[in-house]
Amino acid sequence: MSNAYEQFRHWATTLLRYRHDDEVYQFSTISALLEGVYDGNATVADILRHGDFGLGTFNHLDGEMVILDGVCYRLRADGTATRAAPTDRTPFAAVTRFHSDFEIAVETRTHRAEVAAAIDRQIQSANLIYAIRITGHFAELHTRTVMEQKQPYPPLTQATEEQAETVFTDASGTVVGFRTPDFEQGISVAGYHLHFLNSDRTGGGHILDFTLERGTVAVSGASQLHLSLPTSGAFLGAQLAGDDVAERIGKAEGPKGD
Ligand code: ZN
Repeated sequence: MSNAYEQFRHWATTLLRYRHDDEVYQFSTISALLEGVYDGNATVADILRHGDFGLGTFNHLDGEMVILDGVCYRLRADGTATRAAPTDRTPFAAVTRFHSDFEIAVETRTHRAEVAAAIDRQIQSANLIYAIRITGHFAELHTRTVMEQKQPYPPLTQATEEQAETVFTDASGTVVGFRTPDFEQGISVAGYHLHFLNSDRTGGGHILDFTLERGTVAVSGASQLHLSLPTSGAFLGAQLAGDDVAERIGKAEGPKGD
């Protein structure tokens, strides 16, 4: 084959991969949130340019973020969910363009850990990133919602001590999140990081636990990580390294990714 052909092939493959949405785009890091960096300059409009599916939080830690089908929702501690404004800002968000690589049908009552184990068995590698979408009916679903913080900001482990917890029972909706490789701990949440939005888009939160009654688990793989770092604000001076990052993420983000 000619060089020109090979070059064209490479270009086309790259373009197709890009169009196939192999990328997770993330603004800032979980370790920055741990250190109380709760204000960012990325807008919801900026984030939505990079994906139609994902999660995060909002400035001042004022609610959990869910992005589903290209719409960004803000889930507040009072249990409400509203559409976020394009100008709303975030200190941390991760998105991708969701495409289903494979699906798992769940027809009997299945606990979170078993759902995670079923996904773990089918993914190609624990070293790639997977977006996880679970649409179904949940027997029970435990969520938390962070509460708006005032300056000077406490670290995340402290801010989440006063989090509002909600139990949804007999609820339909969508779980939105990621399975992230262990080596990304601190950049993201290693293991499963999942948020919930109910089917009438009126409530949800960061998931602590769930039991799925029946539903469909869809998995969308990614091998590209686009990490966008803040260029201003508290991020620049934050101390982001530390031996206990995993422990603090576990405390702030709930049950381990099992
Ligand atoms: Zn979360």
